[in-house]
Amino acid sequence: MTEESTQSSLNNVPRNPFLHPFDTPHAAIPFNKIKLEHYVPAFKEAIRIHESEIDDIVENKEVPTFQNTIEALENSGRLLSLVTNTFFNLNSAETTDEMQQLAEEISPMLTEHSNNISLNTRLFDRVKHVFTQKDNLELVAEQQTLLQKTYDSFADNGANLSDTDKITYRDLTEKLDTASLTFDRNILKEVNDYTLIITDKHLLTGLSDDYLETAAAKASAKGQNGWLFDLTAPSYVPAMKFLNNRELRQQLYMAFCTKGIHNDANDNQEIMRSIVNNRLQLAQLLGYKTYAAYVLKDRMAETSDNVYKLLNELLAAYKPVADKEIEAVQEYAKSLGFTEQLQPWDWAYYAEKLKDQTFTFNEDSLRPYFELNNVITGVFGLATKLYGITFKENADIPVYHPEVKTFEVFDHNGQYLALLYTDFFPRKGKRPGAWMTEFKGQWKEGEYNHRPHICLVMNFTRPTKTKPALLSFDEVKTFLHEFGHALHGIFSNTMYLSHSGTSVHRDFVECPSQFMENYAIEKEFLDDFGFHYQTKELIPSEMIRKIKNAENYNVGYQCVRQLNFGFIDMAWHMLEKDFSTNVIEFEKQAEKQTQLLPSLENTCISTAFGHIFSGGYAAGYYSYKWAEVLAADSFAAFQNAGIFNQDVANSFRNNILSNGGSEKPMTLYKRFRGQEPSINALLVANGMTAHTPK
Ligand SMILES: [Zn+2]
Repeated sequence: MTEESTQSSLNNVPRNPFLHPFDTPHAAIPFNKIKLEHYVPAFKEAIRIHESEIDDIVENKEVPTFQNTIEALENSGRLLSLVTNTFFNLNSAETTDEMQQLAEEISPMLTEHSNNISLNTRLFDRVKHVFTQKDNLELVAEQQTLLQKTYDSFADNGANLSDTDKITYRDLTEKLDTASLTFDRNILKEVNDYTLIITDKHLLTGLSDDYLETAAAKASAKGQNGWLFDLTAPSYVPAMKFLNNRELRQQLYMAFCTKGIHNDANDNQEIMRSIVNNRLQLAQLLGYKTYAAYVLKDRMAETSDNVYKLLNELLAAYKPVADKEIEAVQEYAKSLGFTEQLQPWDWAYYAEKLKDQTFTFNEDSLRPYFELNNVITGVFGLATKLYGITFKENADIPVYHPEVKTFEVFDHNGQYLALLYTDFFPRKGKRPGAWMTEFKGQWKEGEYNHRPHICLVMNFTRPTKTKPALLSFDEVKTFLHEFGHALHGIFSNTMYLSHSGTSVHRDFVECPSQFMENYAIEKEFLDDFGFHYQTKELIPSEMIRKIKNAENYNVGYQCVRQLNFGFIDMAWHMLEKDFSTNVIEFEKQAEKQTQLLPSLENTCISTAFGHIFSGGYAAGYYSYKWAEVLAADSFAAFQNAGIFNQDVANSFRNNILSNGGSEKPMTLYKRFRGQEPSINALLVANGMTAHTPK
């Protein structure tokens, strides 16, 4: 910037890029022009506009109609979602201390604004007026969905309650918020408070030098000699797998499985009771028999009967397999001179040894075949093969970090479909993990179809001075997974933003992503791009076979473990009366059928089960398995016709991916598959034989 232009810009009123139309290709976000100081004024202005849009709806003198109320509400607040998406996406992918501070300032503003809407009784009166006439309105399916969703969003926030009940409702939600935080804090304290220091190195055989080095550093950070063990995953998991000393394994295992039940300040039993009871009361206040019923009405599963049907079918199929796996590990342990019955602290240790003996291959030996640029070609190429879409890099589109690349996505007929940003490497300011997100969703405005701006954020292995980025097999799977979510966004073709892309039920959203993971072990797919980056040799078939087998090692045990969590979750949320008895006994009862190894007294999963007591998975843990079944069942349709079959792909696109949350997921799914999903495809994928229903 020259001296003069600095001067002249100081003399002008600073332009807030959010408050003017973006003059970028595809109206992409002008990241290069957005500065930290633009956010708060942009949020304030966007909230003001949204409020005035809502006032217009409420003040409308005409009789409430679907168009002047439901659709008008749906189409309001566009600037606010743009600013919100930009800010919070960057706060995850490219944050700073200042930005995090700003988030703390902005979040309460947004909460207050959304409360003002959900508590606006005049607005709800209009919504209700339209809702009560829904059968006479001749709405198309997507409009019916929007009407139902809009009505529910008020009703589930207590809009239909009497004034006294509204106070009870608010009181319960506040109590639940606080209890979840306490629950989490207690688990964290339990983890942080526990350390085990061993000073005799002879007790630590089996652990790797790297592991011991970290353990020694941890001890010395506390001013102690020796090696420190704790309950965090990087310390606990390898110890259970590799530590030869059985007594130490037992000691660690018992510490891990007794979190929150020590009758001390960190005890979670009473907090759990209050959480399940308050959830039940909240559900009953809103007219549901159980908390599960309240949650599941907005899920693909719909009812607890359907959840139990899945859990029980999987249990019947996988339990015998799991029992055999345990027998095999027990036998193997015996061959090594271990004559006692396997206890829970022995399982990972001997299972790992048997795995090592059965599948001798090193994960790292795969990396040279997965050079990132080749993988990108392979994954994008897969979408081209299946759907005919193409990707063209456009360096003129502003990005939020120099490593981010932007692609224009075009349909098979050349029509522009979406923008796709990719952001592959870890750096300071990016949170760990991998995710797909949107800067802009998709919706239709009259004839005009607003196309989405989608972003893939990863934390893949970086290139080094001597090597390009060489991905692990897991990273390749992650790429396919997130790319599956991205396709859900790219193909979106719904009327309304609220239904677009991945705005679907929680137990459905992982179907398109897990579906894509299936390709990772298909030779036909890997042959397209899996070349050694130096020798140009194709990935050996023998290696692919080994990966496949390793993926299914102890699949029965793992499935039953997941079912165990699912049954426990459901048991707590199927309560119909206040719970006041023993937490541990209740849990032991709930997991009776899924018990594989000897049951131990005075251990408890629930008191440290953050997923369901503080993480939003209440009456939803089954979703992991539900989505796996859907993904395998979908992929089977491709396997039957050829994994690159374009007819099946187009049916998947047109019936599922394009429709987002515009209709019930089961309706969409049946249109694609011609029937409801069954667990058979998953059984086959897991190397088991499909059972024929009687
Ligand atoms: Zn996902």
